[in-house]
Amino acid sequence: MHLHDINTLLNLQGVTVISITEPSENKVYVSLEPIDSHQLCPSCGSIHTIRRGKSAPRHVRHLDLCENHTILILPTIRLTCKSCGLNFTWEYSFVEPKSKYTNAFKDRLAQSINGGTVKHSIQVFDVPYTSGERFIKKSLSHIVPLMQSELLKSAQNSTKLIIGIDDFAIRKGHTYNTGIHDLRNGTLLTVVRGRKYEELINNLELQQCVSALSPFAVVMDLAKSYHNFAKKVFPNAIRIADRFHVNRYITDALHAIRKRVCRTLNTYQATFLKHNKKLLEKRNDSLNNSERLLLKRILHLSSELEDAYWLKEDLIEWYEFSNKKNALNLLEKWIQHGESLGIPEVDEALKTFRNWKVEISNYHKCRFTNAAVEGKNNKIKALQRRSYFLRNRTSYEYRIYLECNCEFLPA
Ligand SMILES: [Zn+2]
Repeated sequence: MHLHDINTLLNLQGVTVISITEPSENKVYVSLEPIDSHQLCPSCGSIHTIRRGKSAPRHVRHLDLCENHTILILPTIRLTCKSCGLNFTWEYSFVEPKSKYTNAFKDRLAQSINGGTVKHSIQVFDVPYTSGERFIKKSLSHIVPLMQSELLKSAQNSTKLIIGIDDFAIRKGHTYNTGIHDLRNGTLLTVVRGRKYEELINNLELQQCVSALSPFAVVMDLAKSYHNFAKKVFPNAIRIADRFHVNRYITDALHAIRKRVCRTLNTYQATFLKHNKKLLEKRNDSLNNSERLLLKRILHLSSELEDAYWLKEDLIEWYEFSNKKNALNLLEKWIQHGESLGIPEVDEALKTFRNWKVEISNYHKCRFTNAAVEGKNNKIKALQRRSYFLRNRTSYEYRIYLECNCEFLPA
């Protein structure tokens, strides 16, 4: 390979390769030299600088070449400025003064923690732990804010922006965070503490983020705090109750009935019902033949269970086949039909549907759900388990953004 090709491969500005060693013990040494003969004075900017010889060269680690550690040998050139008299050493754009690693190496190390842990990346990159940890923190504090501001810009520029709002637990039942997502672009725009109205409305960071946006629609679960928040900050947006959260109300009712029915059955029937409870949730049109037979036996056990099951299926049908003109009417009919069944668990669930029927029907104005958001929340939960809950809030948020938006990292 020509040295010229190695230059291209290394992709370092302002230097040229003068020699490269054979790989030995998984290391290759690449000697470099600056292309320019002079460097401007870093203090006064004068071009009148003179070289004063060289000190012992620096060894700087760069990105691996075919699994060999790449060690750059950089001459330490001493210079003096004739204008101001400053003595200084040659600076290379791709590595910070005195650092033993190039900036590209540090950035790659930082990006590699996505999907893994800091510890693992540091092992793979074979760097001392404390240095590795420091590089990762520093690199993230640079690249993540850059990435986030780009994502916010593309949200601002997208036509008919759809925002998704959803919470995820830090400690279930204790502390929650709220994520604001751009559903059209599939990005997480911001994460803030809490999920109560006061917490959201008084959060300056969040205010800054949302004031820049004017969404066409906002998708949320049925939390009052989110809807009040969205009403306040996005007064013109259509508020949509998230389909999968809504569906959960009816499946929860179905399971409550199942549990009640179970207590009236003999041991054999009760066990049978319990073992096959998942079938109740599954969509009827995706059951196979043997599942269909099992379902028939399940529904035979109780007429209330059977009624509630078909009510659930009717809701799926309403979601699939209504349009924005008839959705509200058909939902009202569905609710009335449900109420006529006289099943206490169903009645309880239907109260929610009554209260939110406009928001639920709004799904048909813009068929977006928070399904992708749930996927991101799962990634975040996995991150939280791997990292034993990062103590520093800023690092924690950076890791979350990196985890959820990694495909949008600036090159
Ligand atoms: Zn000077």
